[in-house]
Amino acid sequence: MSQKIPDRKMMYGGGWHSALDGATFGSVNPANAEVVAQVPLGGAADARAAVDAAHAAFPAWSRRTAADRALLMHRVADRLEAKREEIAVTITMEEGKPLAESRNEMRLTIDSLHWYAEEARRAYGSWIPDPVPNRRLLSMRQPVGVCGAIIPWNVPAAMITRKAAPALAVGCTMVLKPAEQTPITALLVAEAFLEADLPAGVFNVVTGDAPAIGQAMLGDERVRKISFTGSTEVGRLLLRGSAEHIKRISLELGGNAPVILFEDSDLDKAIPALCALKFLNAGQACISANRIYVHASIHDAVAERVKAYVAKLRVGDGMKEGITMGPLIEAQAVEKVETLVNEARARGAELLVGGERLTGGTYARGLFYAPTILTGMKPGMRMAGQEIFGPVAPLFKFESEAEAVVAANDVPYGLAAYIFTEDMARAIRVSERLETGMVGVNDVRIGAAEAPFGGVKQSGIGREGGREGMEEYLETKLVAIRVDPGA
Ligand code: NAP
Repeated sequence: MSQKIPDRKMMYGGGWHSALDGATFGSVNPANAEVVAQVPLGGAADARAAVDAAHAAFPAWSRRTAADRALLMHRVADRLEAKREEIAVTITMEEGKPLAESRNEMRLTIDSLHWYAEEARRAYGSWIPDPVPNRRLLSMRQPVGVCGAIIPWNVPAAMITRKAAPALAVGCTMVLKPAEQTPITALLVAEAFLEADLPAGVFNVVTGDAPAIGQAMLGDERVRKISFTGSTEVGRLLLRGSAEHIKRISLELGGNAPVILFEDSDLDKAIPALCALKFLNAGQACISANRIYVHASIHDAVAERVKAYVAKLRVGDGMKEGITMGPLIEAQAVEKVETLVNEARARGAELLVGGERLTGGTYARGLFYAPTILTGMKPGMRMAGQEIFGPVAPLFKFESEAEAVVAANDVPYGLAAYIFTEDMARAIRVSERLETGMVGVNDVRIGAAEAPFGGVKQSGIGREGGREGMEEYLETKLVAIRVDPGA
């Protein structure tokens, strides 16, 4: 299904703007290679104009009451509710995920706004018991200031409010740069902020040249914080760049999640959960199952059941009824998956199903890779250490709990991990030993507006979601007050 979407301008300072030099670029549908629409190809000067707007808006926005800001944010959520289907369709056209997944994403997109609107009303400071007579110590919470946000394409709407909702709710203003693959989704979300009559400059979106916009944010002393979600490689660049002005920074980076199925797993529950996680967004999720460790005693049964699940997947254009897995985002992503699978097979892995690009017929113009299962995976293979970001389920056999935990931790990343067991003592013990920011126990649904989401090791710094997500946008100020004794 092909649908016409109008070209869009970027949004800052309460209005719509072309790039200052007039350049544009097209967002391309990975299911059929059609240009969805054109958007401005902004650069450093455009980013500076947006920072000017965010900087000008900050004093008045930060001085409003939290209750007042909350009302406006609920209004943004209502506008997003009204545009929910339009944005979901745009996500699918730009990113490729099935429409049902895009609709699910909209739930989290809206929920973050409601939750943080309320939570910011509880950004309490404290009175501290004072060791000095006739003095009082007050610890107050204040917004960090202007924030720069950079997000990837794989969760292109929810990622916006995961950052903007806590930032704006506590009084910060923001300039956001979406990924080049999903700019229209971001501009539709920006439209909801405008329609809700948010003051000009409080929330701004600049589309275009990532390094130029990133450098403009890093090099501008008025930008007090960077919040980034994306690859570890770019995260590292931004962390270095933040050193110049000692900016605060939050990084949600690459994952490489292990899933451990112990011998006492309830397979009726574990297999659908594991497969839903693995093939969600065609495996293009930071929390996707990257390495699947299966106890030797249940290995063959697990492999057969995963194969049966894969047989029911329907791959194609996410706009079509009944499609359960879409394309990969770009040609390099298909090449990367292909290389990883070929390398594993050359080193002895066995292909159970898939292992090839899908071409011809309805797949002819899209970037499709077949859902794939590999068994006989070994620790030294590239897929054991690298984020796959594709629909490949690699199965590794293990014999003991200790062996599984060592293997699970044997990567420089630490975002999410999942374990399946009916033994609660083991669930707690293994959760404590896994070097990750999040652990799913007999469940793979680990995200919620209420919950702190984030990684350790090279998967990032800081948390998004929950109270912790709000802390990322707050400074603590101590006020020491002399109180002379009265008469
Ligand atoms: P990416 O290449 O790092 O891109 C992410 C964002 O950074 C895009 O907006 C991109 O812009 C921008 N960017 C690229 N180079 C830049 C530079 N030099 N300076 C400033 N910005 C720059 O990541 P990706 O490959 O698109 O996304 C997938 C990665 O994100 C995976 O590793 C995944 O695990 C990770 N991720 C992590 C989380 C989490 O919460 N931990 C969530 C989702 C995804 P352009 O698109 O314009 O190049």
